[in-house]
Amino acid sequence: MIHRLIALVAAMVAALVWAPAASAQTDVALATCFRHVQPGDRPAALFGAMDGFACRTPRRSDGPGDYWVRSAPLPPVDGDVTIRSGSLWQDSATIYVLYADGSIRSLGFTSANAWQHLELGAIFSLPLPRATAKPVRLLWHVRGAANLRGLVLGPRLMSSDVAQSHALALAAFYAAFVGLAGALLIFNAALGAALRQRFHPPYCAMVVSLIAYAASSSGLLSQLTGLDNNVRLRLNVLLLAATLSSALIFARRFFGADVTRGWLRPAIDLGIVALLGSATAYVVLMPWHPVLLDRAMALSFMAALLLTLPLLWRGWHGKDRYARPFAIAWGLPMLTAMARVLQALGVLQWNFWIDNSTLIAMALEACCSALAIAWRIKQLGEERDAAREQEMLARLLADSDPLTGLMNRRSFLREAIGRCEPHVLILVDIDHFKQVNETLGHDGGDQVLRVFAQALRHAAPGDALVSRIGGEEFAILAHRDATDLPEAILASIRAAPMPFDLAVTASLGSECGAIATETDWKKLYGRADDALFAAKRAGRDRLRWAAAA
Ligand code: GH3
Ligand code: MG
Ligand code: MG
Repeated sequence: MIHRLIALVAAMVAALVWAPAASAQTDVALATCFRHVQPGDRPAALFGAMDGFACRTPRRSDGPGDYWVRSAPLPPVDGDVTIRSGSLWQDSATIYVLYADGSIRSLGFTSANAWQHLELGAIFSLPLPRATAKPVRLLWHVRGAANLRGLVLGPRLMSSDVAQSHALALAAFYAAFVGLAGALLIFNAALGAALRQRFHPPYCAMVVSLIAYAASSSGLLSQLTGLDNNVRLRLNVLLLAATLSSALIFARRFFGADVTRGWLRPAIDLGIVALLGSATAYVVLMPWHPVLLDRAMALSFMAALLLTLPLLWRGWHGKDRYARPFAIAWGLPMLTAMARVLQALGVLQWNFWIDNSTLIAMALEACCSALAIAWRIKQLGEERDAAREQEMLARLLADSDPLTGLMNRRSFLREAIGRCEPHVLILVDIDHFKQVNETLGHDGGDQVLRVFAQALRHAAPGDALVSRIGGEEFAILAHRDATDLPEAILASIRAAPMPFDLAVTASLGSECGAIATETDWKKLYGRADDALFAAKRAGRDRLRWAAAA
């Protein structure tokens, strides 16, 4: 398996590298003339007769039907030659080959077995039968032609080895596209699963449709499954409509309500309905009125493409900067898709590269969109980090006392209640604080509260809860081993330098106990408060334990 793969890649590289050298051999475009089939027509007679053949490019106005298409005289060729032309809607095609000795041989295919001659790039490739005399002219008998892009598409006569290297180069082109699209699909599917953004599913649907379209429009699917060629052409239309519809849904979700506001949103919905509707009509009704169906398809594509213009315009001028790489990414596919629509409407001539430009442009678009998505994700990450920071700040503010930065009563109780092992609770109340306020003013009193809080925090161990539970009342909760803590806190308060050297003292009440429930807390608090009251009564600036109170 690996050997075959390596051999294939080597052959593709060789084909790409040596293709120019090989093209020195036969590779010529054939001019053709055509006319409607009439009763009693015989190929031998038609090779000679000039009457009735028109040599301008076949136009849609000539209508669907059965046609003769006659080539200009063939250039002199050596060795095996192959006749190649693009795939078209037709029931069957027979190619008559006139040789220099006057003999005529025929070859051909029907829509059902066309896949046997279909090469990558959706190109019919038929080697001309060998004969002793050289081939001089070709005549196609095309039955049931829709005649939407022509009757025989871009016919070329090629040496068989040139045809082979062309086929390999196209295989490399499609392999590169499918590889890229496959990698993008896996990348986006994984991102979609991880981030759950609403724009990922339509993006993945777009890439899947595009891969399926590449497989169908390249002819690979037919080679693998023996698909009828006219069914394949129906499938192409359906898959292209699915690709563009999912692209529109993706764009709508990616940009959000701000960009799609007003008339644009219902217009996009309508565009998607028109796309899928005209594609379904094409699939179901072809070859009934092919020109009508084809034009409906082309116009709905045009409408869908035009809808992306205001979308990209608003995205570009909107407040979201990630829309810009997205707009750039979509510019190229929009242009190539327009070229295809113009080709379908007959304004531009058929060209293999315009026909396949969708794949190249969409591959570029997919790469640029991947960058735009990465940008968007970066932005989402930044938004999430900012929201998280905001939330943490809000929680911190809700839990702390704004004046002193200590825990507030609410967060203190939340942390304290539920502790089953015994703890030491110390209640601290500043003595005669009313007088402090009277002496220093309210702002001076605030400054005293801040210094006081710092002294408490400084004296308490790191794992102790220190809180301002009221105006000039504080509570400290520490592990029961910290029996020396109340004394240490009293000492720290006495030592703290107060504003204007004011002598500020405090009274402390302590008690030890568990705080498994709120009831426990009330009891413990009540006893510590009694101890505090005892300290006040005993003359303030002191500590009392509940047991001694
Ligand atoms: P005691 O020794 O009996 O505790 O006397 P006290 O004056 O400290 O007690 P009291 O409860 O009578 O007065 C407390 C004062 O604390 C009253 C109030 O104006 C003041 N106070 C409460 N909160 C603040 C505050 O945030 N800033 C300032 N500057 N003063 C406050
Ligand atoms: Mg008080
Ligand atoms: Mg007080």
